[in-house]
Amino acid sequence: MKQVKIDQEECIGCETCVEICPDVFAFDAGLNKAYVTNPEGVEQKCVEESIGSCPVSCIIIEEV
Ligand code: SF4
Repeated sequence: MKQVKIDQEECIGCETCVEICPDVFAFDAGLNKAYVTNPEGVEQKCVEESIGSCPVSCIIIEEV
């Protein structure tokens, strides 16, 4: 099974993924970083778009 993850060490908090795909990503204002709310939402088209749009390429799809 595949899941989507964010490498929070690398995330610069640009919020692009949250804007593109709010069903899967959310923003932690305290940490100034995005996080995944729905790892199983990996098949959604907006996840692919977010991966392509992340400026630091820190959105990852993992086989679990
Ligand atoms: S697009 Fe990338 S850098 Fe921007 S908030 Fe999302 S995970 Fe972080």
